[in-house]
This record gives sequence, structure tokens and C-alpha cells, in this order.
Amino acid sequence: MKFGTKAIHAGQEPDPSTGAIMTPIYQTSTYWQKSPGDNKGFEYSRGTNPTRKALESCLAALENAKHGLAFSSGMGATDAVMKLLSPGDEVITGDDLYGGSYRIFTKIFSNYGIKFHFINMNDAQNVKQYINQNTKLIWIETPTNPTMQIVDIEAVAAIAKSNKILLAVDNTFASPYLQNPIDLGADIVMHSVTKYLGGHSDVVMGALMLNDDDLYNRLWFIYNACGATPGPMDSFLVLRGLKTLHLRMKAHCENGSQVATYLKTHPKVDKIYWPGFSDHPNHDIAKKQMRDFGGMISITLKGADLQETYRVASSFKVFSLAESLGGVESLINHPVSMTHGSIPKAERDKVGVTDNLLRLSVGVEDIEDLLDDLKQALS
Ligand SMILES: *Cc1c(COP(=O)(O)O)cnc(C)c1O
Repeated sequence: MKFGTKAIHAGQEPDPSTGAIMTPIYQTSTYWQKSPGDNKGFEYSRGTNPTRKALESCLAALENAKHGLAFSSGMGATDAVMKLLSPGDEVITGDDLYGGSYRIFTKIFSNYGIKFHFINMNDAQNVKQYINQNTKLIWIETPTNPTMQIVDIEAVAAIAKSNKILLAVDNTFASPYLQNPIDLGADIVMHSVTKYLGGHSDVVMGALMLNDDDLYNRLWFIYNACGATPGPMDSFLVLRGLKTLHLRMKAHCENGSQVATYLKTHPKVDKIYWPGFSDHPNHDIAKKQMRDFGGMISITLKGADLQETYRVASSFKVFSLAESLGGVESLINHPVSMTHGSIPKAERDKVGVTDNLLRLSVGVEDIEDLLDDLKQALS
């Protein structure tokens, strides 16, 4: 099955009891057993629920994976992966990460004796020098948030494999429409489903997709034991959102390309970060591993201090100033004071997350209205 067909149908059959085309919202915590243990595969909804199960099958299909696990947030999914580790283990990860990932690594899991190396991954070979016998996991994000750096997934996967290290990829920014890390050799794909997969800014959810049965069983044990699993209503909303993922992503990419092109020569814009430009440092890798370049764009404002950046960020009429991304509506974000506030200033400055940086999540509104809004806000 091709992508759009899977987005609409994977994991979903007409309801056997009524013929309902849409997967019902099985709003139940528990299930009847004829005699102890004699049930229809569902016992208690922390571990299994039919609406969530349909969603997990669909999510797995979209990443060309065998298994899917849905969590009550992206951070819940990340947390489960980290619980595969033990004290003394080491993790290699990027130096330009989602702020919440940086926070859970440094403020939670560091306290449990896990060591993290935050490194530049523009050159995948850089990873090798941080590997030792304690290295158990490589965690990458590409494109990175917010500076849209591209990490070569296939190259990192080859290094991970030859050293028997797990590779997990946070694929939130690309979505499975643009990039499938498992096809490139990753072991686990993580998503903040809250973003493009849900797509309508009405659900917080996370997911893991993977192939290996043994790893799935270990992660399912953590998922059920720790309990950060989503309810049936949210599972239904995401199933519904997924049905237009391919249509939305196509529109995000088209609008993203036009907005990026407009901003590139704008006199108020200093730097622009978007992997679709041929002068982006890893454009060739983006072209190799992604099917298009997406609707996430970051810019720095020429000569703007914090005050002026706040003024611009607050003067949009179609774009909304808000955290998050990937919904149908266009959003603008000031990473330093919003999504990346939990990263120390020295660390932020090193990777270009400066006071005058703004991040755009280009939505699927009419492009003329988006360009007009940028024009007036940057005037
Ligand atoms: C939002 C986000 C997360 C966290 O997901 P939540 O659903 O907010 O918990 C992780 N990684 C990236 C890249 C994100 O954008």
C-alpha cells in the first residue's frame, strides 16, 4: 500500500459489531472475562485498548515498521526509550535538540547515572570518537529544532550497527511523509504525535515505531508498567488527523518553500535556516534522505535586540505566537523564551539559538495571506 492509502486505512476495519466505518472510541477502562484469563485480548486499558491499538497499527504502517506504541506525550515516548538503559550507560546525542529532550536527559536521567554526550552531528563520523564500551544508545533529531541542521541517518545507523548500539531518531519535524528512519537503518523512531501526525493542535501524544520483536516486548513492558499511555478519545482524534497527513504535508511543503524563498532575500532577515536551499550546509543529505523539505523555517532578524524581536513576534495577524508546530494553522515561536528556555544561554548561543531567532511553522492557509502577514509584520 502507498502512503496516502495507509494513512487512511492501515489498522482500521469496519467495526465487526455494527459495520461502523470509523473506529469506535472504546471509552472503557476494563474488559469482561468469561473466566479468568479468557478474554478477547484486552484486559485493562493502561496496557491495551482497541482504539489505541488501531492507531498504533496505523502509525507503524506509516513508518514501515512492524510495531507501534502510542504514549500520552512525545516526552512520555522518550522517557520509555531512556528506561531501557541502566546506570553507567552512555548516550550520544546532538547539540541542537528539542528543549524538552535536553531537559529530560540532563535533569532527570543524568541523576540516574546515565551519561550524555551532546555533540555536533553535521558530520556523522564525529560520533565515532565518543563511542566506548558503555555506549548503549545514539539519539538523533533531524531536521534539528530550531536550526534545521540535517543529520545523515544512514551514516549514523552504519556506525551504530557496527558497534551494536541502538539508534533512535526523533522524526517529529520531518513526519513519516518526508522521511522514514527505519528504512535508513534506525532501530526506533520517535514522534511527538502532537505535531504533524495529529496535525490540528488539539491533542498531546507521542509514539515509538520499531521492528525488532524483543525490543518491542521490552518497550511494551515499560509502557504498561510506567503507564504513560493515551486514552481512546485522543487516539480517535489522531486516527482522524492521520487521514489527511499526506494532503497536509504536501501543502506544508509548498507553502514552506514559498515562505522560505520570500524570506531569503528580505532586508530584515539575517540568517535563514531551511534545508531546501542549495546553500544549506547539509542540503545534499536532506535531498538524499527526505522526499521534500517541509514547512519548518527559522530566521534571525538583522540587528534586532530582544525587545525588537518581541515586537516583531507580537505583530503577526495570521501566524499565531505560540509553542508547538505542525498544525494546519501557521505558528511563530521565539525559541529563547519559549520552547528552548530550559537550555542554558551558553549552550544555546553555541548552536545559534540567539535572542533574535524566530521559528515559523508554516501552515496550510492560502499562501497570499501568509506572505502578506510576513510583509506587514517585518515592515
Ligand atoms: C514537541 C516535541 C517533542 C515533545 O513532544 P510532546 O508531545 O510535546 O511531549 C519532542 N521532540 C520534538 C522535535 C518536538 O518538537
